[in-house]
Amino acid sequence: MILDLLGVSRQNQMIIREYMPSILFMGGAFLLQSWGEGFYNNHPPDNAYLSPLFIAANQQIGLWILWGSVAMLALGVLRLFYSTYRLLKWEKGEILECCDFCSGLVKEKYGRYGAYHKCLACGATHSIR
Ligand SMILES: [Zn+2]
Repeated sequence: MILDLLGVSRQNQMIIREYMPSILFMGGAFLLQSWGEGFYNNHPPDNAYLSPLFIAANQQIGLWILWGSVAMLALGVLRLFYSTYRLLKWEKGEILECCDFCSGLVKEKYGRYGAYHKCLACGATHSIR
């Protein structure tokens, strides 16, 4: 893992992994917004070679993409609040599901043998019974 190579401590790795979905959502919103702006501004209204209907359709698609980026940003902010809430509860010791080896924060996943917990700090897995 690249975080090990960079010398990031286990607890900081856990924090980075907990915030990664919101980071990805916000980065995706930024990319989607730049793409939607390209759609919206690619064909200026004074372009004589394109039909007005095509330009209007492109602008409408661009607007939908821009609203999608706003929704994605909102999801990223909500996930950011949720991750902060989980980390605060973990710090106080109020989260019951913790890693058996390092007592780090765990994430629930589903694999071939059913549901299991994966530690965000050390990467160990434990099956849920
Ligand atoms: Zn662990």
